[in-house]
Amino acid sequence: MSKLGGTKNEKKKIRLIERDGLKCAYCGRRMDYMDLTIDHKKPVGSGGSLTDLSNMVLACHQCNCRKGVLGLNGWLEYEKARLLIEKRKVRFTRNLVKNLEKGENDS
Ligand SMILES: [Zn+2]
Repeated sequence: MSKLGGTKNEKKKIRLIERDGLKCAYCGRRMDYMDLTIDHKKPVGSGGSLTDLSNMVLACHQCNCRKGVLGLNGWLEYEKARLLIEKRKVRFTRNLVKNLEKGENDS
């Protein structure tokens, strides 16, 4: 088992915490050390640097999982589409409830 700050990744994480604080770069939530992961803004698979700190931010597990292998722009597009679908679902449900209530009043 490695001690805290021992591995290369932990050293990077500590430097990112010194730079950005103990929070997720995407949702802004304050996190514990163990709940933060290192995310590569431009994925390594798409040519982003694996070692350059300017390509790295701290992200919570949830944001890092959602972003996956998408770059920042790809992820933003994905999130916009997801929120639009959520809004439509809310509108649909609101209309459904309204129509059901109206139906109850009609009978
Ligand atoms: Zn987050």
